[in-house]
Amino acid sequence: MRLSTEKSSFPESCSFICLYEIRQYQECTPCEPKRDRITRRLKNQLVPNDKEPKEMNTLATKSTAGELLERARKIHEDLLRYRRHIHANPELSFEEHGTADFVAKTLASFGLKPQTGVGGTGVVVDIGEGEAVAIRADMDALPIDELNEIAHRSCNKGVMHACGHDVHTACALGAAQLLSKNPPKNGRIRIVFQPAEEAANEDGLSGASLMLKAGAFDGVKRCVALHVFPELPTGQIALKSGPLLAACDQFDIKIQGKGVHGAWPELGIDAIVIASQIVQNIQTVVSRRISALDPAVITIGGIKSSTYRPNIVADSVEMTGTVRYFHNETHEVIRREMENACRIAEVMGGSYELRYFKESPAVVNDAEVVSIISEVAKEMIGTANIHPGEMKMGAEDFSFLSEKVPSCFIPLGTQLPGPIRFLHTATFDINEDALPLGAAMLAASALALL
Ligand SMILES: [Zn+2]
Ligand SMILES: [Zn+2]
Repeated sequence: MRLSTEKSSFPESCSFICLYEIRQYQECTPCEPKRDRITRRLKNQLVPNDKEPKEMNTLATKSTAGELLERARKIHEDLLRYRRHIHANPELSFEEHGTADFVAKTLASFGLKPQTGVGGTGVVVDIGEGEAVAIRADMDALPIDELNEIAHRSCNKGVMHACGHDVHTACALGAAQLLSKNPPKNGRIRIVFQPAEEAANEDGLSGASLMLKAGAFDGVKRCVALHVFPELPTGQIALKSGPLLAACDQFDIKIQGKGVHGAWPELGIDAIVIASQIVQNIQTVVSRRISALDPAVITIGGIKSSTYRPNIVADSVEMTGTVRYFHNETHEVIRREMENACRIAEVMGGSYELRYFKESPAVVNDAEVVSIISEVAKEMIGTANIHPGEMKMGAEDFSFLSEKVPSCFIPLGTQLPGPIRFLHTATFDINEDALPLGAAMLAASALALL
């Protein structure tokens, strides 16, 4: 997940907005007959496994979703092993060779036949036959030096699983382990382990787009994925239909002035003064041109002058930044107003070049898919543990999938006691008690979506 500078927010007590969203959520939950249909569908998908330990059979009276969670808890040690191995051996985007190898070998140990080298270092595996529902996990880490003093701390200096993709991969492996023992009767579950969620290649393509291009999602009718949320209590998930994570644009601005001795600026054109005006103008785009009810963020993340001396007027300045929003119309307004904000450079005698490009669309959860998964979640953990979810300004390349296939992106609570361990920081960490729920949610959701 790529973050903007927004502060988070799963408040301990419900805010007014939360209550509003709860109301919306309750309104969109399916009626009882529909819930029964979904539960029946989930039960029918599971083929009884004669080799299951005896105590498993005593679970027959419980719901199938609950049964899957019980089974996931029984493989908690395995899930810990997967997660800790991947966490200790993180690899940057497009370099996930060791992780892909570990994933493929683990899948093979379940008797599955994974396909490797898909879209680069991606791994794809099918369980069952026929129409497919996909589970997606990402495998890449970030260029951050881990500060956690833990036994499974990163062995690769300067590289860390600080966005929880080790957890996503471990949970998807857990789902494969559960489903390999009880494959769906009708239909196929395709598990896609993608590379490079955090970065794009020189063609501007990140892992999800590369997997789409490689055909990993061809014929897939629905898709589900999860992401760790360190602000959400462990044992809970969040479910929200409609927009969940923001669309993301990037911009680069080059301002050209005229360099001169700092003692007589009147002979030059000061690119730093022009840049300062542009920064101020950009601050008014969201506040003066976008409705207060339409969330948007513009952040200038970097600024550098061609010279850095006390007595030289800079010849040129470069700036870079990110834009987050949820609607295409907002994108159009921001793009136009960014251009207008830069025009001050010409009024001041300089010139500018604005490069503005779309990075990823918004992650939009499909209402029907969310409705099916919410019934699964109610069976598994009860309504009290399902947070209504809220829009966040972070971005995720799952958006390229949700644009093509009806999907649901599930925030998984991984909160630890003490201060929040924020994503993309050197002290990010998760509560590993969340692993069985992650694996069971993926498996049960995929079955129910078939
Ligand atoms: Zn991330
Ligand atoms: Zn992420």
